[in-house]
Amino acid sequence: MKPFRQLARRQALSGLATPRILSSQIAATSRLRLRNFSSTASVAQLAALDPSKLTVTKTQSPKKLTPPNELVFGKTFTDHMVSVEWTATEGWHSPRIIPYQNLSLDPSTCVFHYAFECFEGMKAYKDKNGGTRLFRPNKNMERLNKSSARIALPTVDGDALTKVIGEFVKLDDRFIPDRPLVLVPPGSALLFVIASPVGPYYPTGFKAISLEATDYAVRAWPGGVGDKKLGANYAPCILPQLEAASRGFQQNLWLFGEEEYVTEVGTMNLFVALKNKETGKKELITAPLDGTILEGVTRDSVLALARERLEPKGWTISERKIRMSEVAEASQEGRMIEVFGAGTAAIVSPVRSISYRGKLVDCGLKENEEAGEIALQMKNWIEDIQYGDEPHPWSYVV
Ligand SMILES: *Cc1c(COP(=O)(O)O)cnc(C)c1O
Repeated sequence: MKPFRQLARRQALSGLATPRILSSQIAATSRLRLRNFSSTASVAQLAALDPSKLTVTKTQSPKKLTPPNELVFGKTFTDHMVSVEWTATEGWHSPRIIPYQNLSLDPSTCVFHYAFECFEGMKAYKDKNGGTRLFRPNKNMERLNKSSARIALPTVDGDALTKVIGEFVKLDDRFIPDRPLVLVPPGSALLFVIASPVGPYYPTGFKAISLEATDYAVRAWPGGVGDKKLGANYAPCILPQLEAASRGFQQNLWLFGEEEYVTEVGTMNLFVALKNKETGKKELITAPLDGTILEGVTRDSVLALARERLEPKGWTISERKIRMSEVAEASQEGRMIEVFGAGTAAIVSPVRSISYRGKLVDCGLKENEEAGEIALQMKNWIEDIQYGDEPHPWSYVV
């Protein structure tokens, strides 16, 4: 532990950080911080994030806008970024909006050795009156704080950070395409917010994907951190994804345990719609938040809308475990309605088939169909709220 503690302390002093999606604090010190945060008295002395102290340094060289059809996810970034330093002695320093720039990191920075990193991803939307909106930012802030707390990084006042992000998004709003802007923040005793304009996820309309059920690797396990957006969770998932891709599948489906419970698809939550064998009723199923599932904002939104708008039409909405064998059986017995992934990037991603034990499980789409009715409806309902076409408390006008 000793070198680790030294490292941590040095880190806090140099105030370095790593870049990544919404807020992560790389450097923050495990031991030092735990001590600080375990005592309410010392927490009270640390400064909270104060949006009224925001300073803005505008870029001298504004970038040219990239045409929407040439945007590559995570390649193009906007003119500015948010940067906020945190130190164990003072807490959150004044937030800054500065020109988008490289970070300069000490090689001893914790993130490189111990993966002290977490992130968030959300989008900004332009409504038809030219106003700029975020979608349920409080959910991202809550999750960011859960991720940070789990790895002993400092938590932050979510409303305050949302205000700072609002200013940032307004400043760079010329980059928001007709389609949304992706926000990417992190931190160390530093927290970053960066933004990347993205083109439409499905430029030519929905394209159903095929999945390979992964039975030889595990993404998350009980008591682990798979329910947190920690950078360390993601690198180990790339190989299984590449393996699936090498056999022609766009994503892999993560199964868990001897029961082969269906958990998530790539980095999306998964929804299965089927006719329940016992009740004969239509059922929309997603895995419960048992610690192995990432609490997607889209998952939560799909569930809430389904309970509000599908339940009255006779649907059962279930957060329950479902085995891959049950999915395969529903398909075989003609009870499968549809399957789709859910996440901020695509909102919904319809699934055509799942490769499981050497066979293809058909997920209910007709041959000429790229999306099922529920996925399509969810996409429309959620987009109407995101773009402000339907007034809704989930849409946050900046
Ligand atoms: C981010 C993420 C999701 C989706 O979350 P949203 O808030 O809906 O974007 C689902 N699963 C994993 C593993 C994720 O990292």
